[in-house]
Amino acid sequence: MADEAARMFLHENALNTKAFPSLAGIQSDLCAWTADLLHGPEDAAGFVTSGGTESILCAVEAARERARSERDLHDPELVLAESAHAAFHKAAHLLGLRTRLVPLMDDRTPDLDAMTDAVTDRTALVVASAPQYPQGVVDPVAEIAAMADRVGASCHVDACMGGFVLPFAVLEDPEAWYAPPWDLGVDGVTSISADIHKLGYAPKGVSVLLHRSRQLRRHQIFEFDGWLGGRYVTPNLQGTRSGLPMAAAWAVVRYLGAEGYRRLVRATLEAADRIRTGIRAIDGLEVPGDPRHHLLSITATSVSGNDQPVLDMYAIDDALAARGWHHDRQGPPDGLHLTVSNGNVPVVEQWLDDLAEVVGEVRSGGVTSSGSGAYATLE
Ligand SMILES: *Cc1c(COP(=O)(O)O)cnc(C)c1O
Repeated sequence: MADEAARMFLHENALNTKAFPSLAGIQSDLCAWTADLLHGPEDAAGFVTSGGTESILCAVEAARERARSERDLHDPELVLAESAHAAFHKAAHLLGLRTRLVPLMDDRTPDLDAMTDAVTDRTALVVASAPQYPQGVVDPVAEIAAMADRVGASCHVDACMGGFVLPFAVLEDPEAWYAPPWDLGVDGVTSISADIHKLGYAPKGVSVLLHRSRQLRRHQIFEFDGWLGGRYVTPNLQGTRSGLPMAAAWAVVRYLGAEGYRRLVRATLEAADRIRTGIRAIDGLEVPGDPRHHLLSITATSVSGNDQPVLDMYAIDDALAARGWHHDRQGPPDGLHLTVSNGNVPVVEQWLDDLAEVVGEVRSGGVTSSGSGAYATLE
């Protein structure tokens, strides 16, 4: 389905939707469908971007511009937990905001006392994640949004991973897969991002960024009227912009529909539950925090009384890699990251068997680790 839609839109350009009106329709359909899913109020409005990073860059820019125009704030700060995605640091770097980093509690949610102290009248944006990437834990969004609201700042919910999972999870099993309110239904949340190219199962290059109102969305739009080429208005970072990913995403969303997503989410979260149970049954390994959905991490337990882990996680990664399994390394502490999707469902038992085997090998000293943690494209 995606291939077919992609071929049809291979040459179309979303820079000017007057010239390609079907792309305007596709964007507004995707935004309306996502706003409905994420409890957007009547006036919610958004744009399609090329991915989570671009959605985050645009959300940070919109918050900065809003703070400048509503509060005359010229030295803006971005408050975020250590678990918030690195794209927020990229945004602060590119857009000239200072970051105020908040540590995590043992359960891997942000330390709300520290966050309260970090939110001041210099704050342009406070970040919450649903769920955060490293350990898959959903932040207490209502508390974080209230902090932002108190000083008139924006609050962005990064649901890049969770946006197309959490709404269906709660319908399938409200007890096991529940998360406290986390979307535009929460007062004080001003924007939210959800990546269709992750658990929306569309090909890469498509995310949705929604604002609570059209008025808030205006801060995202760049407009220049002093060019000989004419008035130039763009909603995000790109100029010429491929119509292919948004058309493919539109086709996939229409094809799957809410029923299709529910089916995929159920299979995926049942697999993630089996994975968590399997990991916890292996002596020496833990799953940090209490992730309930499709993201989780594995670390080594430490000997009580000191922080020395009993197993070398990167040696475990090497041994798993030798068996054909890829994991992203992360830390501190040294750990492996899992994003479970429907594609993993058929191989869960085989993966758990291999994991148990390699832990045995590493424990007996047969494998030592190479390299360090990396999540990088350097060449
Ligand atoms: C993937 C991800 C991002 C960044 O999105 P890209 O599509 O990789 O640019 C942001 N936040 C979270 C929680 C993510 O998982």
